[in-house]
Amino acid sequence: MTTLADGPARTGPADFIALDERWSTHNYHPLPVVIAQAEGAWVTDVDGNAYLDFLAGYSALNFGHRHPDLLAAAVEQLGRVTLTSRAFHHDQLGLFCSELAELTGTDMVLPMNTGAEAVESAIKVARKWACQVKGITEGEIVVASGNFHGRTTTIVSFSTDETARAGFGPFTPGFVVVPYGDAAALAEAITERTVAVLLEPIQGEAGVVVPPDGYLTKARGLCDEAGALLIADEIQSGLARTGTVFALDHERVTADLYTLGKALGGGILPVSAVVGKAKVLGVLRPGEHGSTFGGNPLACAVGRAVVGLLSTGEFQQRSTALGAHLHSRLGELVGSGLSAVRGRGLWAGVDIAEGGLSGRQACEALMTRGVLCKETHGSTLRLAPPLMISERDLDQGIDALAEVVAVA
Ligand SMILES: *Cc1c(COP(=O)(O)O)cnc(C)c1O
Repeated sequence: MTTLADGPARTGPADFIALDERWSTHNYHPLPVVIAQAEGAWVTDVDGNAYLDFLAGYSALNFGHRHPDLLAAAVEQLGRVTLTSRAFHHDQLGLFCSELAELTGTDMVLPMNTGAEAVESAIKVARKWACQVKGITEGEIVVASGNFHGRTTTIVSFSTDETARAGFGPFTPGFVVVPYGDAAALAEAITERTVAVLLEPIQGEAGVVVPPDGYLTKARGLCDEAGALLIADEIQSGLARTGTVFALDHERVTADLYTLGKALGGGILPVSAVVGKAKVLGVLRPGEHGSTFGGNPLACAVGRAVVGLLSTGEFQQRSTALGAHLHSRLGELVGSGLSAVRGRGLWAGVDIAEGGLSGRQACEALMTRGVLCKETHGSTLRLAPPLMISERDLDQGIDALAEVVAVA
């Protein structure tokens, strides 16, 4: 079959890039690498060059590329049934939800597909709960500056990133933005009309920003006093990335609702969920919310295999141990090319010192040294290697970073 896209035989990376640029919308600015294969912490381009993956699909690949247990679960399910719609029961949904609830210490699971849908669903459920249980109609949800919760119209309504908002209005009302990490500002913003506080326990896209100690505990206390819900967006920070199932676990704080995504699909397909308390998720009745693909058999089978990997604690331990190594080595670069390092577990945001390369230039320089990562903005890089990476490969990536920033 030939299509419009078929020109002369395509061989080199430039041909693939030209094709992307001609036919796919320009809402991304990818590095000029064309990946054709991947395994574990490594990807290979169309010319056969190997690169270490230090981005891991923004934490969607916490278990590495094509983890054998995840592939086996997917292949097995492909041979049985992939989609039923929620019009019928199937034999994977209840198992997935019960296993995920057990792992996360929650009561109930609302399965969706993408992260943005999980956040949208949490917002809808919180509003419905406030309406039914507290009699608050059209209440407010308090969010933090610098947030990233996805790309839908409602979600960009409360983004503080002008690029994500400009030209996309009109926006959804009902959100109040306060500075991230500022407990006093949060206290000030919460009123009797507050339905929920929605936070990332660590802000990923903002540059792996860790709030001050005690902030999340304070947020929990303020929600309790006001009878408001705490919603933790753990789409990037959760599922072992910081060394625990949830980043909130580091402060021993429990949220009423958590949003999960990215790694929940094992890097194979989009799988997301809202997990949390039955008194909140239990308000939904048939017909009030849904998704054609949410909770499909293939997604549930892969999700169960992800939960299986997390239930051993192995990936949490790796993140803790390798993260300590990563942060100790990055700490040595502060003053030698880096101006700041933040993060927890095998997850770091690094700021390149003033006068040095831009984030984009640093990523291009890393690419030529066989390491792939992505700037968040300006001169900040986010490092999030897969949690199965070997210490040797981790060191290789850090060595490359040290070289690149030392050029400054
Ligand atoms: C990636 C991300 C989302 C959105 O997930 P999508 O699957 O891209 O819709 C939401 N919240 C956080 C914290 C994220 O990192």
